[in-house]
Amino acid sequence: MFKLSKFLFGIILIAVLVFNFAAADTTLTDGSIADTVEHDAKVPILLYHNIMDDFDPKQSSVHISPKLFEEHMLSLKNAGFHTIDFNQYYDYRINGQPLPEKPVIITFDDGYSSNYEQAFPTLKRLDMKATIFILTGRMGAADDVTYPHFTWKQAREMQESGVIDIQSHSDLHPNMMQQSVGRVQLELRRSKYLIEKNLNKTCDVFAYPYGLYNNQAQEMAEKAGYKMQVFVGDKGVNEDDTSLRQLKRLTAFGNINGEQLIEMIKQNTEGH
Ligand SMILES: [Zn+2]
Repeated sequence: MFKLSKFLFGIILIAVLVFNFAAADTTLTDGSIADTVEHDAKVPILLYHNIMDDFDPKQSSVHISPKLFEEHMLSLKNAGFHTIDFNQYYDYRINGQPLPEKPVIITFDDGYSSNYEQAFPTLKRLDMKATIFILTGRMGAADDVTYPHFTWKQAREMQESGVIDIQSHSDLHPNMMQQSVGRVQLELRRSKYLIEKNLNKTCDVFAYPYGLYNNQAQEMAEKAGYKMQVFVGDKGVNEDDTSLRQLKRLTAFGNINGEQLIEMIKQNTEGH
């Protein structure tokens, strides 16, 4: 009898400890359980490219001024959005880890120097994070490119800061639908390998150049080890049943103000 009660006491003690540990784990992300989302999260992924002043307004899908970019970020913050990275999103989808309330993923394509010079310090100051999809074959390129690209050294500095997560946008930005199987393989695997080798991290996400993809490329990306694939759809947000190999992104245009950005996100969230 004595042994049995001791045994039961042990079980209860373990149960209490496990429960406390699990509860503590849940609160880690954002301070309190009330501020987290555990299911039915609707996660917008925003897409930016280059940051600069004085661009042709017709090019506002790829450019935004430094001042307006900061306004976008402040508006997200004021509207209660919390920036997360793809690892957090994966942990939520696959392992059921909670996300902060109103999660949003900020992304940049191509890896331009302006991301390092403008976006990185702004995000750092505002305590926000973003993901940059780079072209591994263009690192540090300044000639024969539309805009200069940041270097591996700068990529390392950003990655190590915890503000920026670097992922793949291929090696040389081809249209993946028009390449041979061998070239698609090379673009997927070479960029992943170079990111992992140079930045000492795993590369889990692939963003298709021009947002163009087909089923074959998606399967090859999965086989190459990418856990998530993103494209450009300009419609909708990501929900629990959205395929991880077809995550949606919304272009954050450089000609809309912060208020319009929040409204655009709202419309895409509610319309789905
Ligand atoms: Zn691109």
